[in-house]
Amino acid sequence: MSLSQSPRGATVAVIGGGATGLSAGWWLAREGVDVVVLDRGIIGWGASGRNGGGCSHHFSPLFVEEQRLWPQMDGLLGYPTEFQAKRIRIAYDEHQLELYGRAVRNAARQGFASTLLDAREVLEMVPLAGEDAVGGYFYDFGGHANPHRTVQAYAWAMQDLGGRVMQHTSVRGFRRAGGRVIGVMTDQGEIECDQVVIAAGPATGRLAAMLDLDVPMVAARAEMIVTEPLPLMPIGGVDGNGLYGRQTLRGNLAYGGGPHEWIEFGEAAGPPSSTPLMANIAGRLARMFPRAAHARIIRSWAGIIENTPDGRPILDKPEATGNVVIATLSSIGFGLSPASGRAICDLVLRGACGFADISSFSLSRFRRLEADWQSLQGWRETVTG
Ligand SMILES: Cc1cc2nc3c(=O)[nH]c(=O)nc-3n(C[C@H](O)[C@H](O)[C@H](O)COP(=O)(O)OP(=O)(O)OC[C@H]3O[C@@H](n4cnc5c(N)ncnc54)[C@H](O)[C@@H]3O)c2cc1C
Repeated sequence: MSLSQSPRGATVAVIGGGATGLSAGWWLAREGVDVVVLDRGIIGWGASGRNGGGCSHHFSPLFVEEQRLWPQMDGLLGYPTEFQAKRIRIAYDEHQLELYGRAVRNAARQGFASTLLDAREVLEMVPLAGEDAVGGYFYDFGGHANPHRTVQAYAWAMQDLGGRVMQHTSVRGFRRAGGRVIGVMTDQGEIECDQVVIAAGPATGRLAAMLDLDVPMVAARAEMIVTEPLPLMPIGGVDGNGLYGRQTLRGNLAYGGGPHEWIEFGEAAGPPSSTPLMANIAGRLARMFPRAAHARIIRSWAGIIENTPDGRPILDKPEATGNVVIATLSSIGFGLSPASGRAICDLVLRGACGFADISSFSLSRFRRLEADWQSLQGWRETVTG
């Protein structure tokens, strides 16, 4: 019996039902591949359902594909992601405005336009903003989407194409033969497979270590707050004052942004949010949007961000294991997910990404990493997750 006919097997087993794993599963299912996505909990319960929804990663080799795909995603998936195009970044002093210019020039080199805004134009375009902004930039690219809707859309679209999701299925190890993985061991039994994708967010390093692969990464806790609904602004994606986030279609402001706390990553998908950090974010949000300072905070949460030593994703199929793709996105995985899923699909089926040069995402770049890199970076846990 072929693996695809076995209820306990699949051609490709994807570990992790976040945006990365589900997008990869969807791209694979589009190619007619029998794929199962395994998650130890509920899909999207990790960072993929807890993030700011931003989709504007101009410094990534996947940027052009990110920008090409997002405006099409609702149509391609057949379910809404609530993607809203364009973004505005507000500056509070001239130095900050000058620094933003670097991002603008980088995007321009790749064919994406931005417009410099003076203080008056910021007020016109961002009705909730205040008088102390010195200016900003309007990005004629990028945007934001609803993380929950997007994760669900990937899962439904993949299932429509025959892909499967197994929730509450925790991967505990691997069965290997001839240097390849032939089975994924879970608390629900073994899933036989031809290929494996490890897209388990902050748990990716721990799972890869079971295959003798050293994937250096650490976890950090980040928080977000949500206000009650406010009148809709023309552009819902406004960053500034160290904050990232979006205005939802209902009008809520959903915002987060440092300080991130380094944590020892445990089993929890998201530790509880802390009142001091909530107050910090709320204070900065009130400065960015003084006309929303009266709004009540109705929700908050914490999420765990996966981080590699250089802050760039690892998307690679290391030679040592042959049929295993490592996929960890290092804190920018939501926005990149349409493109990263496609890249992972290429790595699984063809051994290389066919639409972008992702050589800078190889695992081998960390070959000569100092053993105590975490201490050198000062990335030691401050709280326990
Ligand atoms: C507060 C916050 C704000 C953010 N803002 C943005 C933003 O605006 N834009 C952006 O692009 N990115 C943002 N990010 C980062 C982004 O959310 C992540 O990079 C992205 O969601 C990672 O997706 P993932 O699928 O790789 O991992 P995850 O979403 O972490 O999913 C991994 C999944 O693997 C599962 N898993 C783990 N171990 C096992 C196991 N042993 N067996 C089975 N399943 C397992 C988990 O249950 C989880 O569902 C933010 C993150 C946070 C926390």
